[in-house]
Amino acid sequence: MSPERRRKEGVASVETLLEALPYIRDFHGRTVVIKYGGAAMREEELRDAFATDVVLLKYVGLNPVIVHGGGPDITAYMERLGMEVRFVEGLRVSDRETVEVAKMVLLGKVNSDIVLRLNRHGQPAVGLSGEDGTMFQVRPVANAEQVGLVGEIERVDVDVLNHIAEDYIPVVASIGADREGNSLNVNADAAAGKVAGALGAYKTIFLTDVPGWLADPDDEGSLLARASLEEVEGALAGVSGGMRPKLAACVEAIRGGAGSAQIIDGRRPHSLLLELFTVAGIGTMVTR
Ligand code: ADP
Ligand code: MG
Repeated sequence: MSPERRRKEGVASVETLLEALPYIRDFHGRTVVIKYGGAAMREEELRDAFATDVVLLKYVGLNPVIVHGGGPDITAYMERLGMEVRFVEGLRVSDRETVEVAKMVLLGKVNSDIVLRLNRHGQPAVGLSGEDGTMFQVRPVANAEQVGLVGEIERVDVDVLNHIAEDYIPVVASIGADREGNSLNVNADAAAGKVAGALGAYKTIFLTDVPGWLADPDDEGSLLARASLEEVEGALAGVSGGMRPKLAACVEAIRGGAGSAQIIDGRRPHSLLLELFTVAGIGTMVTR
């Protein structure tokens, strides 16, 4: 590299750092709940970039809490086992065997992989599910006749999370049990929304496989960059697929006490850093 080019790139890095500085100051000591799943989890390069970002957040003084799903992995294992895979309104239709497989894949594979990766990048993480420390108290969802053993969280006890978050990065798999101790499948977006509300998180960030909430799901150029709670609530019934539980979770997070909620494109490497530490930001931001 020529000295001139090196000097220019050096100036650019310094500018990037200076741009980030007010955010770093503002975020210090704040909790950010990150819903991790889908696209950002699929490729090795993106998984590493995600881990680097989260570790960096911890280093600059934020308290990252990860809540994850593992839809594609669960589907792949179900298919391997010859099980039928079905979704209704973005929720996985679940019978006893589905919940069993989901739990094994989420905890035994997906959760453990995230924890190992964060450890390797230099910040110790602790994996748990909503069943640990009775974090999630779950009841069957309203449309249980259609979707089966899918639960919604009625109560979150963040005590265990707060303890862990003091020294470690908590990584939460979205599984919970009802009062009788039956495990239920919990949509990871819904879980992230509840956790963010209960923690009073400063920010809740959902990584997904589209640029954000789109006015037209078939047009990636139709991004809605900002939306109020009322706008989201008004539109919710008309939103389909996996975007519905995500938007509902944004509302849940903010109504529960979180500061803001963002849906960002997890296919972009380092999307978390772009969102948090640059003036432009990315994706859809939902605010009160
Ligand atoms: P994740 O793993 O991030 O939860 P999902 O598949 O559950 O992914 O949810 C994201 C999907 O929601 C998108 O890939 C898209 O197919 C679908 N979707 C439906 N309506 C919309 C919309 N209005 N805007 C964006 N995405 C939408
Ligand atoms: Mg989803």
